[in-house]
Amino acid sequence: MSTVNSINPYTHKEIESFKKHTKQDIAEILQKADHRFYLWRETAFSKRKELMLAAAKELLENKQEYAETMSLEIGKPISQAIAEVEKCAWVCEYYANNAEKHMADVTIETDAQKSYTKFEPLGVVLAVMPWNYPFWQVFRFAAPALMAGNIGVLKHASNVFGSALNIEKVFKRAGFPKYCFTTLLVSSDGVEQIIENPVVKAVTLTGSGPAGSAVAQTAGKHIKKTVLELGGNNALVVLADCDIDATVDICVQARFQNTGQSCIAGKRMLIDEKISEEFIEKLLVKVRELKSGDPMDKETYIGTMAREDLAAELEQQVNDTVKAGGKLLMGGKRQGAYFEPTIVSEVTPKMVMFNQETFGPALSITTFKTVDEAIELSNNSRFGLGVSVFTTDIKNAEKLVYRFDEGAVFINSLVKSDPRLPFGGVKESGYGRELSSHGIQEFVNRKTVYIN
Ligand code: NDP
Repeated sequence: MSTVNSINPYTHKEIESFKKHTKQDIAEILQKADHRFYLWRETAFSKRKELMLAAAKELLENKQEYAETMSLEIGKPISQAIAEVEKCAWVCEYYANNAEKHMADVTIETDAQKSYTKFEPLGVVLAVMPWNYPFWQVFRFAAPALMAGNIGVLKHASNVFGSALNIEKVFKRAGFPKYCFTTLLVSSDGVEQIIENPVVKAVTLTGSGPAGSAVAQTAGKHIKKTVLELGGNNALVVLADCDIDATVDICVQARFQNTGQSCIAGKRMLIDEKISEEFIEKLLVKVRELKSGDPMDKETYIGTMAREDLAAELEQQVNDTVKAGGKLLMGGKRQGAYFEPTIVSEVTPKMVMFNQETFGPALSITTFKTVDEAIELSNNSRFGLGVSVFTTDIKNAEKLVYRFDEGAVFINSLVKSDPRLPFGGVKESGYGRELSSHGIQEFVNRKTVYIN
């Protein structure tokens, strides 16, 4: 099919129909992007900084416009969509102000008169991105990539083509030269051919394991670097000495923000059995207070899920868990793409909600007797993106950090991405890092210079 229709998951009405790029369109765009690279890498950091700050300003000035498209396309509550656009402005500002420092030469003393490492951009980098944070996932790639002197081409998820074009618009309105950042309207079956094009030097993908594996396979065949940010099944480890009220609030946000559709959401709650009764009672009160409704309403916290098929998949996972002995404490029902906030307790590692990623507003609860058991349960996952540990004994918690097989350990906080901190996983959550100095240095040639 040469068109893609985007459907509003809340109203089920068609929003827009997009004409996909043809193979010839794509070849031409890639050619022009490559040509742009050789000019773009000559620009001074001061010029790139000026443009990136203009992109941040554009985002903030028109956040309502950009947020509305996201809400219409994926049922994301508008207040959370606005916050997402604001966070994108932050990452633009962060790299505008820090890229030059992160990319500075590093002198290494050897027997040469002078020897050092230079960080140079690679060229055109393809980003294959998901729908769950339609702006943020792209900006956290684009801001460092462009500041490093690379060129970005985006293949966004097929249900967010409106947002994909808006992102291109942000850079255009900010004054970036043409083809510094281009959106390709293409389905997943067109990705292989893009990666194979010699102009494309590297690929970054955020999304599911099968998508990551397919992209890395093609990139590997052509010896092109990949960064993969895949799924997660983060645990929320609630120790007996935690501050219960504060922890409840953080856990609710960790699981239910973005209607639960986040790779770093806390999906498996592990609670010390000594406090589980009191904790669960308070948790249920807070989750019942979450307001479901029209994503365009400022008061809505739980919107619809992004697509009906994703909600149906979650329904199946919850039903399977309950059938296997999980205790449904609240929710569990679906209406189209809307899924009620759901909590299932007495979940064991053999049950679906424990051993599969649930990508929606459903939390599983498992109790433990000892800290060793909690760590073992937390590590009992194919994924390794992050974990949250809640305790008032921070010294002891820090001693436990090395025992978690994760890309990140957050103590008394939900796992979150921050432009200043590296972000990424281990195990089937992927490899490579985004954000901070680590993110900008992923798509560079670390050139050794030796002068005798
Ligand atoms: P996908 O992983 O299928 O989609 C993510 C991106 O990859 C989209 O741009 C998609 O394009 C593209 N893609 C998919 N398959 C391929 C392929 N074989 N080759 C090249 N590109 C591909 O996510 P889904 O929308 O299907 O969601 C399914 C599950 O993935 C979720 O339930 C969740 O578990 C996980 N997921 C994880 C995310 C994360 O942040 N880590 C984000 C989103 C999903 P297209 O849309 O055209 O198919």
